[in-house]
Amino acid sequence: MINILIVEDEKPISNLIALSLKKAGYHCTCVYDGMEALDMLEGQYPDLILLDIMLPGADGFEILEYVKPLNIPVIFLTAKDALEDRVAGLRLGAEDYIVKPFEIIELLARIEVVLRRYCKLENHISVEGLEIDTDSRTVMRYETKIHLTQKEYDILLLFARNPGKVFYREVIYERVWGGDYTAESRTVDLHVQRMRKKVGWEECLVSVPRIGYRLEVRK
Ligand code: CA
Repeated sequence: MINILIVEDEKPISNLIALSLKKAGYHCTCVYDGMEALDMLEGQYPDLILLDIMLPGADGFEILEYVKPLNIPVIFLTAKDALEDRVAGLRLGAEDYIVKPFEIIELLARIEVVLRRYCKLENHISVEGLEIDTDSRTVMRYETKIHLTQKEYDILLLFARNPGKVFYREVIYERVWGGDYTAESRTVDLHVQRMRKKVGWEECLVSVPRIGYRLEVRK
């Protein structure tokens, strides 16, 4: 599981990010102070760090200096008006920055891009009879290419990357469509069911009553 360290002293922001990342299938750890972050990085190596700049203890730039030799990608979380900070952060070697306040779906997309650049996310996934190539977005089943719409592909990838994990309909909607889920909407069910049929996952992509769906992987 991908492990993300969130260094952010504003607890509401930190909590929101942590909740969203967990729902998206990441493991995350939160620290609220720069010194605490440095202490933690002595013994643990996360796959990615989300780093605020203005922090008590040690600021984001000092932490970035420390992290650089460890080859851990960093995405800066910057305040809206701090353009100079962003420039300085990129020059110091941050992979990306995102301006607060931000949409969670945008943060998730940036995280995926950076993880892929660092080869933390596989570009080839074999799961339940399918071969998925995420660079070309192709899906093969027994040498036959399966044509999926963009949304169907995005849903497939969510399950393929997180076998065994239950996804709430709301989460699937947020991850694939972005924006707020309306409970009346049958959109998620229709897309999941069409995708499931196309790829031959009728038996293993199971419906979890009143919640959503889970990919059961047979041993
Ligand atoms: Ca701060």
